[in-house]
Amino acid sequence: MADALRFGMTRRQFIRAGLAAAGGAVVLGPYRSLAEAGRERARWAFLSDTHVAADPENNYRGFYPYRNLQKVIDWIKSEQPEGLVITGDLARLTGQAGDYENFKKLIAPVVESRPVGLALGNHDDRDNFLRAFANPAGERPPVRGKHIVTVNAGPVRFILLDSLLHVDKVPGLLGKAQRTWLEGYLRVSDGRPTILFFHHTLGDADGDLLDVLRLFDLVKPIAKVKAIVYGHSHEYNYSELDGIHLINLPATGYNFGNAEPVGWVEAQVTAGGGRFTLHAVDGNTHFDGFTKSLSWRS
Ligand SMILES: [Zn+2]
Repeated sequence: MADALRFGMTRRQFIRAGLAAAGGAVVLGPYRSLAEAGRERARWAFLSDTHVAADPENNYRGFYPYRNLQKVIDWIKSEQPEGLVITGDLARLTGQAGDYENFKKLIAPVVESRPVGLALGNHDDRDNFLRAFANPAGERPPVRGKHIVTVNAGPVRFILLDSLLHVDKVPGLLGKAQRTWLEGYLRVSDGRPTILFFHHTLGDADGDLLDVLRLFDLVKPIAKVKAIVYGHSHEYNYSELDGIHLINLPATGYNFGNAEPVGWVEAQVTAGGGRFTLHAVDGNTHFDGFTKSLSWRS
């Protein structure tokens, strides 16, 4: 992620970008603080691909996902962001019940005190996940077989979508029912800047979001959609398409290549744009603390 290219891809590069891993979403915890009127800046932790296993000592490429998530939770306890979003691949590989038990234990201190939005990836199992998180808080629109969450984050709105298609198969899909819901929701909701979250990458590879072009046809003319935040590639990257910012979060669990950071992103968002600071705890830590500033399209 050393060069400027990584932070300003062309459309062609964007279409080629994208890699590995599918998605649902649930938000847990209290919402009162989010509904406070007049808030000008929202500060959240954005994570992806935590890959927590039932065994805390489980490791891959020398990375220990359990320990990495523990570091994020410790940071949240001391730095007090308003909430936490994780864009899928919460579990290690196949979404085992034991993975979620461990994951739930790790994030419990945050869930008790602030909103936590969880989307599902291709290494998650929706049924096992929902058994572990049986009573999520938040607005959960009813789209059959999908878990969508909308979050009032003050100056901005978050919509967590579900791109989980098949457990442990790489490609993702939002699907027509979810896209139809999204279009209707965006048309009737207020004009607040809106950020979409889901797991899958936006390229044209077989393992990306398969209905990415339909999604773009939908959101492009709706100016309140300012950014899309996703994971899946385990690569940290910024790009843009039709004025919509595309933010590919680094993995919290492990990278696939040595050049990539392992960590999370501290997001400070306003009605006008956002500042996104990398917290690299492992992998390539050279850009730890690097802040990317984005302005929303009008
Ligand atoms: Zn992953």
